[in-house]
Amino acid sequence: MPQKKDNGLKLAEVPTSEGCILVPYELRRSRRARYIRLSIGRHNQALLSVPWRCPFAEAMQFLRSQGDWIEERLKDHPTRTSLFQFLQKHSRLHGLGQSFRLTLGFTRAKPFYVYSVPNSEIEMRIPSQGDREAATLSLVREFASEVISLRVDELAKQCGVEVGRTTVRDQSSRWGSCSSNRTISLNWRLVLLRPNLQDHVILHELAHLTEMNHSPAFWELLQSYDPRTQHHNSQLNPAAARLMPLGKGC
Ligand SMILES: [Zn+2]
Repeated sequence: MPQKKDNGLKLAEVPTSEGCILVPYELRRSRRARYIRLSIGRHNQALLSVPWRCPFAEAMQFLRSQGDWIEERLKDHPTRTSLFQFLQKHSRLHGLGQSFRLTLGFTRAKPFYVYSVPNSEIEMRIPSQGDREAATLSLVREFASEVISLRVDELAKQCGVEVGRTTVRDQSSRWGSCSSNRTISLNWRLVLLRPNLQDHVILHELAHLTEMNHSPAFWELLQSYDPRTQHHNSQLNPAAARLMPLGKGC
């Protein structure tokens, strides 16, 4: 079902051939339009231009029939939201069940990151010359691959399940997925989600190792892994709308 989003855009769950994705969308009614038209807007939202009297349900049905097209378009749409600027403002990265205070600086040598678990601090240095955005993205993704994989192993052990392989990828509109060969794929942007929300996404995929669907049994199992499932689940859509555009277009 479509839902309200913080900043006025709305989100719709749209099926694709590989499962559902969350799509921010904007509906524009036009007195001149005779058909429904779909394009991708400046903020990576699906822009639905519909005839004035077009029923809302019909517009949504059209949107939901275009999942593959939308996912394809979102992949090659660069965004205007800079990860570098976002991190300068928020100064936090999350992993291993905790929150790290980030210092983002420059270096004349090779880029690097170093973190301290006891101090909950991470320092990242990117080259003082060149493309800051690409350098930041590359370091953050490296950090994400490291800590997300470690966390998956940790939580899998707690849940008593066995994971095949963990990959950390750049999905454009989903937090994670699980394949039938027990590979769990997670979005690097999870390091931008606070620890309990990040854990919730990982636990969701771990639950799929036992229940490969979204049946009542699946939710019951997830609830046993994360007692605050409902609360956390409701926070994922707004977070996706805010964080998914980051780091695209490098
Ligand atoms: Zn799922």
